[in-house]
Amino acid sequence: MEKNDPPKRVIINFTKKCVLNCKWCYVPFDQKDISEERLISVIERVSELGFSSVTFGGGDPFQFRGLAPAIIKAKELGLFVHVDTHAITLSKSKENSYLIDNYVDLIGLPLDGSTDKVHDLMRGRIGHYDLIIDKISWLRNHEVLIKLNTMISSVNEFDLVNLGELVQRIQPDRWSIYQYWAVGPAVKALSNHMLEKDAFLESIRRLNCKAIDGVVVEINSSESRRGTYPILNHLGDVHFHHEYPINEFQYVGSIFEREISSKMDDLCSGERKQAVSRYYTTNKLVN
Ligand code: SF4
Repeated sequence: MEKNDPPKRVIINFTKKCVLNCKWCYVPFDQKDISEERLISVIERVSELGFSSVTFGGGDPFQFRGLAPAIIKAKELGLFVHVDTHAITLSKSKENSYLIDNYVDLIGLPLDGSTDKVHDLMRGRIGHYDLIIDKISWLRNHEVLIKLNTMISSVNEFDLVNLGELVQRIQPDRWSIYQYWAVGPAVKALSNHMLEKDAFLESIRRLNCKAIDGVVVEINSSESRRGTYPILNHLGDVHFHHEYPINEFQYVGSIFEREISSKMDDLCSGERKQAVSRYYTTNKLVN
């Protein structure tokens, strides 16, 4: 692997469970309980190791009642806070509004089709498209950058141009388009969702990203993501995408191990250039 900079961000996945069951999901769910104290310790350790950004990711962070203290701790430690959510458990409460306005820099929501038919098929849940559109409009009244995340596979690639027109109307701050990536549990979706890199890039060419005004569009082929950041679970176990076999995760160790920093540096090829600007566009200051 080509060496570059050490990793600057981590993703922390809540691997206990998720209420959605996206067939192409790469998160290895394990039913392990989540504790607020442990999660705070993981955040403190991430900061101590010199990371500058943390992404709270799926299963859904808002399923966990102790999320707010963890987010607040991350912000107090000066980390850029990014939260990805399927938005089902993101209630429109005053508490969530306060948390998002004051402690979250970037929030990501999925949008995998230009219609309910396409999106709900990708997410395996009727009504999810309508829920996402509703939550986007709620989030627009908050002090947070909004990122839409689209997973493109052979099932929805025909819809990408229409989706681009919808994104143009929604005007999020950023649109991240990901090629389906057969890694970890996502391998089981290979027969239905496989999309070769050339076909993915051809879809992107038809989309014509330059015609989408006012939105930063980020194109992520599956290989561009390999080895660019450590993936933690809520207990602090660190994984990287394996170089070989290419469809597996590699367990690196616990974030609390003394040598974990050098192990991660050895495996990381540095942030991919498409994603760099995500984490430096804003950073809310804590009073
Ligand atoms: S992709 Fe996200 S929303 Fe879907 S099952 Fe995985 S964690 Fe849940």
